[in-house]
Amino acid sequence: MPTECVQAIVTGYTDYRDNDRMLTLFSADRGRIDCKARNCRKPTAPLLACAQPFVFGEFELFAQSDRVTVNGCDVRESFYPIREDVDRFMAASTAAQLVNRVIEHDSPDEPLFSLLYHTLSFLAYADVVPKDMLIAFLLRFLDHAGYRPSLTRCSVCRRDVRSDAVLFYSADSGGVVCVACPHGGKPVSKLSLEAMRRILLLEHDELRRVRLTEALRNEIYPLLRNSCAVMLGENDKSITMLDQIQ
Ligand SMILES: [Zn+2]
Repeated sequence: MPTECVQAIVTGYTDYRDNDRMLTLFSADRGRIDCKARNCRKPTAPLLACAQPFVFGEFELFAQSDRVTVNGCDVRESFYPIREDVDRFMAASTAAQLVNRVIEHDSPDEPLFSLLYHTLSFLAYADVVPKDMLIAFLLRFLDHAGYRPSLTRCSVCRRDVRSDAVLFYSADSGGVVCVACPHGGKPVSKLSLEAMRRILLLEHDELRRVRLTEALRNEIYPLLRNSCAVMLGENDKSITMLDQIQ
């Protein structure tokens, strides 16, 4: 077998031995690729620059039986500024971890790749509030995974609730719930629902425009965190990471 080149983003890694690292790559064409980067943690290692979180590059891979090794990499974008700011780093790490939970080997996923690429790009280089970028990512991520929260219809009785004065949000029910339906949710403001609707209408390259008030940010974030927990389970590592972001 052969060597092959793939464009991919490093979405995770685990260190092993003294200088080696196991990388998780996400390629739009191939989905998830787990591969070894040998000797990449030595200060002078040729693979040092590419074996870092969030790096986007053209990776030269060598596969033998079912093991894949990185031979080399042409780094296209390091998104380095993410690593210099703790809030941006936490948001990017959480997004990458969520992506890792859903990508599969040999499963192309261009839309999810585009979402992650744009999220990392704006976290690195745009004047954004990291938590707002994460909120935008979470909404799009849930939508992509088939867990788009219902925002205009009661998720229990399916009635259009856009003119209702009082509404609740229940992650277990799948979104907004009207007063007449049973639920275990929290009250949700119409402004939050409208903000989420608008975020879902944006293209990926427009997500840098998301700028929420603190009140909206604090209301929406826990709702989306709960929707992710319904999808992945309360004990998932990504939920712990979401909880660490204040
Ligand atoms: Zn209802």
